Amino acid sequence: MNKKFKKIVLRTASLVSAFAIMGASFMLAPDETQLRSYAAADSKVQKLEDDIKALEKTQKELLSKISASKNEASQVSQTKKYLDSLIYTLETKISTSNELMKELNLKIDEANADIKVREEEIKKTNEKFIARLRMAHEDGSASYIEMLLEAESISDFLSRMERVNAMLEYDKTLKENYQAEKETLEKEKDNLTLSVQLQQETLQKLEQDKKDAEKQSSQAASYYNKLQSDTAAYQAQYNKAKAEEDKLDAELTKYLKSIQEQNSSQVTATGEYMWPLPVGKGVITCTYGGKDPGGRPHYALDVAIPYGTPIYASNDGTVLTASWHSSYGYYIVIDHGNGMSTLYAHCSSLAVTAGTQVKKGATIGGVGSTGYSTGNHLHFEVRKGGVRVNPLNYVKKGV
Ligand SMILES: [Zn+2]
Repeated sequence: MNKKFKKIVLRTASLVSAFAIMGASFMLAPDETQLRSYAAADSKVQKLEDDIKALEKTQKELLSKISASKNEASQVSQTKKYLDSLIYTLETKISTSNELMKELNLKIDEANADIKVREEEIKKTNEKFIARLRMAHEDGSASYIEMLLEAESISDFLSRMERVNAMLEYDKTLKENYQAEKETLEKEKDNLTLSVQLQQETLQKLEQDKKDAEKQSSQAASYYNKLQSDTAAYQAQYNKAKAEEDKLDAELTKYLKSIQEQNSSQVTATGEYMWPLPVGKGVITCTYGGKDPGGRPHYALDVAIPYGTPIYASNDGTVLTASWHSSYGYYIVIDHGNGMSTLYAHCSSLAVTAGTQVKKGATIGGVGSTGYSTGNHLHFEVRKGGVRVNPLNYVKKGV
């Protein structure tokens, strides 16, 4: 599972070896110098472990900062994308609005020209009317007065009168039509002018929106850059802490190995290792070299099997530890001698205590889901010189 555990195992190994020797003291009589050397070793180990733990804490904090910073950056990047597409849309709208304004202004120009034409016509019609009333027009047509004065009889006069009236009516209608057309055109022009005003307001608003969006987008861009450089800085700090931890880790492993070599277990297993669960039950859910549910490399065998199923000692040995660990939950480590040990994690119960000598096949605990676990299963490790090796190279698969 995690390598933190390696330290615990090795450390326990050294201490239990010490206890084993202390226990054996009933027969061998303990040497006080030896006990003092165990205490000194323990304090050195404790110091290294505390330093490693502090570095691990720092790394964890940095990882969460990195992840928060990356999340934030991804959100900011989304926001920026949205703002940029908004800017694009606004630009399109602004250009459409400008086109529309151009068209409206052209129409106003046309309306103005038409109005001028109508005004000319009205003026001309009026002049013609007045001229007709007075005298012969310059185009040669007779004036109304002349037409009436040239009447030869009453009936001729009346008939001329009728014609004059009709002509006057025609001029009047003509003038009125021009006038009506002019008024319509003026109304249209007013509407067009109003439209231009509205369009100008819209355009102003669009320009303002665009400016705001551009400002926000550039703020998002600089915030994004800051987050990126924060992430890089955290990553550098993390790498540093990791390197320091690796160094201390190597130092501790080396030190513990030397202690373990000095205090080898009382029991040395000679037989083959056995499947640590009832044969034919359970399912292998993760093998050595796979990934655990958290995506971390897995150097053990996971067997999902019902709660309370007995866990068997895989070989003869001495229980190094049977206690609690934040990741492993209730777990047991058995030292089989010759640098070999096995580990059983996530137990629901422990049937042995540190120092117990066990025979292969003895029930040492029950399956559970304690510690970092997502369901009832046995997490089984085999270690050679403290290094986790593939359990299936030692035990015959029992499911
Ligand atoms: Zn596991």
